[in-house]
Amino acid sequence: MAKPLPASTVPLIRRLWREQVLRHRSGVAMALVCTALVAGFTALYPVVIQQSFDRFTANDTETLWLVPVVIIIITMAKSLAQFGQAVAIQSVVLRVIEGLQGDLFRALTRADLAAVGRDAPARHAARFTVDAAMIREALTKSINAIADVLTVVGLAASMLWLDWQLFLIAMALYPIAILPITRLGKRIRRASGGMQQRMGETAAVLTESFAAARVVRAYRLEAQEEARAARIFAGLRESLLHIQRTRASLDPMLEALGGIAVAAVIAFLGWRVSSGAGTIGEFTGFVAALLIASRPVRALGSLNAALQEGLAGLSSVYAVIDERPRIVEKPGAVALPEGKGRVEFDGVGFRYEQGNADAALEGLSFVAEPGRTVALVGPSGAGKSTALALVPRLHDVTAGAVRIDGADIRDVTLASLRDAIAYVGQDAVIFDDTGFANIACGRPGASQAEVEDAARAAAAHEFLAVLPQGYQTVLGTGGSRLSGGQKQRVSLARALLRNPRILLLDEATSALDAENEALVQQALARLRAGRTTLVIAHRLSTVRDADLIVAMDRGRAVEQGSHAALMEAGGLYARLVRTQAFVEAEPA
Ligand code: ADP
Repeated sequence: MAKPLPASTVPLIRRLWREQVLRHRSGVAMALVCTALVAGFTALYPVVIQQSFDRFTANDTETLWLVPVVIIIITMAKSLAQFGQAVAIQSVVLRVIEGLQGDLFRALTRADLAAVGRDAPARHAARFTVDAAMIREALTKSINAIADVLTVVGLAASMLWLDWQLFLIAMALYPIAILPITRLGKRIRRASGGMQQRMGETAAVLTESFAAARVVRAYRLEAQEEARAARIFAGLRESLLHIQRTRASLDPMLEALGGIAVAAVIAFLGWRVSSGAGTIGEFTGFVAALLIASRPVRALGSLNAALQEGLAGLSSVYAVIDERPRIVEKPGAVALPEGKGRVEFDGVGFRYEQGNADAALEGLSFVAEPGRTVALVGPSGAGKSTALALVPRLHDVTAGAVRIDGADIRDVTLASLRDAIAYVGQDAVIFDDTGFANIACGRPGASQAEVEDAARAAAAHEFLAVLPQGYQTVLGTGGSRLSGGQKQRVSLARALLRNPRILLLDEATSALDAENEALVQQALARLRAGRTTLVIAHRLSTVRDADLIVAMDRGRAVEQGSHAALMEAGGLYARLVRTQAFVEAEPA
């Protein structure tokens, strides 16, 4: 049944077939064999019915006992084939979905930070669940459609064998159904894309709301959140209803058309049998064939609708997979040259893709000499985090250049650049994995001894060693087994193990309890020793000890120098110190 499908349908399916389905050739072959068997056995039903009725009417007692036996054998064989078919189809379909999920995840983990930030995390997550479910359903239905086509072909052969004239009458009626089927398919695809978008938005609003549970209660925002959720649910209901209404009109239409076909055939048959031209067996067999064929034919009719929903999901998934990262290596990029870690910001400008009109950084220039510490200070929104993010090329500068040991970081390989850098943020990131793995990921391939050395240097050995399974204890989601200070020490051990040329540090704004604080500060001092450090400083002790202070405001370096010199100058930095913008508390 050839249907004129929307232009992009065929390439999408062909791509899925080539990239995913063909990887599972044996599964596809198995599904096809079972499908052919199911279709073959189904096609035998009308013939068996015709034979039995003709034998009954002929009072052929000798073969009469044979009929029930044959029926049992055929149904048994068909059931077995059906089971094999369902399992084979699902195992291929689920592997295809798994493959797509893998590709999507790989694309997202390698995508530019800016690209990932465009969608809410929950919208990304929905692509793996909602869109994947749509694709799975469409894929299952499409493969089942092959079975249906074969079944219809088999039944058509039966009908042809039983009575070719009637066969022609029945066939003439089917093509009438094609026009509405394709028209509705297009509408469903459009509606479905909107629905998937809505699903993603719903997921985003829900996660956001649950994450804010504390604030919602404290500020008594329950009613406001309920109203927001109600609006989202209503939107979702409307877009779902839109799809269901379109879909709902299809089945009754096909049913009605089927009814007309059956009526026409029966009228003709009745006339023929009553005028003595056919047998009761032929009549019954033919009507049975028509009735059996009506289910697969209807399924084929609604296939296009399911297919369009799946394609909406598939094109949204491929859109993410196909987005080319903009932060890529130049062809012929070389490894970062050896050096001691001299970092130079040379007239750096940067503008966020979706930021406000102002540039986040403009004409920012300073030099971090090897082994020295540069403290970035300034009011919130001055561009400190942005400046730090440029060093490992999480974003690319839009003007000027960042150089490490003389090399523009855009000219060197991403691997060598990022291997030379460790980042320690305000919130210690702990993966839901073992203590060992959480440190070893700083330098893959590190030995147990090296990991333990790093942990000792970061004052993390003592508490990791006494966990129930020692270093092999899983730390829980977000490191729920550890205290705040312990988490920071684990993340410092990770950075120490990495042994980077350059350390990027976003200092914690609030002090921990005195004991933890002292241990964290000691670990930090060990980490910073002999390394070039760029630190977003929140502590007075850090800025005071820094070799260079860069005071930033609105993306520019307003002044640079040592603590003493800048205090003397009495500018932005002196003002920040005076207004106690820095945490003063020295560890006990
Ligand atoms: P700081 O770290 O000094 O507080 P940031 O580097 O975070 O400052 O921000 C500098 C400017 O860039 C601010 O005006 C901020 O609003 C903007 N900005 C930061 N992150 C983004 C982003 N992901 N998209 C758009 N604008 C951003």
